Amino acid sequence: GKPKKACIVGSGNWGSAIAKIVGHNAARLPQFDDRVTMYVYEEMVNGRKLTEIINETHENVKYLPGHKLPENVVAIPDVVEAAKDADILIFVVPHQFIRTLCSTLLGKIKPTAIGLSLIKGFDQAAGGGIDLISHIITRNLRIQCAVLMGANLAGEVADEKFCETTIGCRDSRLAPLLRDLIQTDYFRVVVVDDEDAVEVCGALKNIVACGAGFVDGLGLGDNTKAAVIRLGLMEMIKFVDIFYPGSKLSTFFESCGVADLITTCYGGRNRRVSEAFVKTGKSIKELEDELLNGQKLQGPYTAEEVNFMLKNKGMEDRFPLFTAIHRICIGELSAGEMIECIKHHPEHI
Ligand code: NAD
Ligand code: 13P
Ligand code: CA
Repeated sequence: GKPKKACIVGSGNWGSAIAKIVGHNAARLPQFDDRVTMYVYEEMVNGRKLTEIINETHENVKYLPGHKLPENVVAIPDVVEAAKDADILIFVVPHQFIRTLCSTLLGKIKPTAIGLSLIKGFDQAAGGGIDLISHIITRNLRIQCAVLMGANLAGEVADEKFCETTIGCRDSRLAPLLRDLIQTDYFRVVVVDDEDAVEVCGALKNIVACGAGFVDGLGLGDNTKAAVIRLGLMEMIKFVDIFYPGSKLSTFFESCGVADLITTCYGGRNRRVSEAFVKTGKSIKELEDELLNGQKLQGPYTAEEVNFMLKNKGMEDRFPLFTAIHRICIGELSAGEMIECIKHHPEHI
């Protein structure tokens, strides 16, 4: 058939790193059109439009400085323009922006397009629950949507340091196409069919990363941090068991599970801001603005969304770590009280 066109919907830190990979593969492989479009939320950087800077210098100087993007990646400020001809839409915006984007794109994309969501987070659903981002994309745009999650700190991926990732894709006919677009010799893909669990892992680990940051801020040491990571993993497993029954335990041993949990709890933005939260006493919002230069945090919002559901269902006690992290982020508890909340964790009974 005709070469497939890919569009990257998003151009932040991870969006830009994945654009480097997708641009490289699209140029190299015959099954993909060489030209890759990238939707860039327009802003002025040093008095110039970011899209112009990217198209002239092939560098996202704000969100991934120091790395060149392939010249076949074209930055476009209008999302409809960027996405309208695409066969493969790669969604990689901070999760808080996905609903608005979907309403802008509705009816403007190819009906045969397929989605791949790299977005780690949830959204609040009507009726007191949560929605998966890939489900929002499927419902609002009426396209299939697979997911990609893994231990993939964007800067290290852009440096071409070896790592693994997980694609969750139920449709075995689509999986090879998605894998070929994403895989390189340093970025190794494993495809599993357990789509929902892959996505839930990617969202929940950001909550645990806040807990790891609090431990670092309190100076509690490596054993305590390991305990928080382990209890976080157990709560992730319980969460999937209760709300996504039929998922597989083996998914937690993929890159999207335990590996992403570890890397984010050591090297991620959620960890860094949460450590600063304890050390400075400033609010999470202030620190996000002050430390991240326009990049966005997912953990505290995800903790809030998860808590909204757990509270509605009377299940906060079964997830003491998730609950404590949320209450710390909104200032209801002090970070030091997190340990009190997990001393009598259900895992210890
Ligand atoms: P980011 O944190 O760098 O976010 C900034 C991006 O948001 C910029 O492109 C900015 O232009 C855009 N933006 C700001 N306001 C906007 C608006 N109103 N509408 C639309 N866009 C707006 O983004 P990121 O790191 O690419 O993260 C995207 C997703 O990828 C997140 O869910 C994150 O969890 C996930 N992820 C990130 C990493 C990483 O290391 N950065 C790794 C794996 C997964
Ligand atoms: P942070 O958003 O905490 O930096 O985590 C990045 C990530 O998801 C690495 O896989
Ligand atoms: Ca090609």
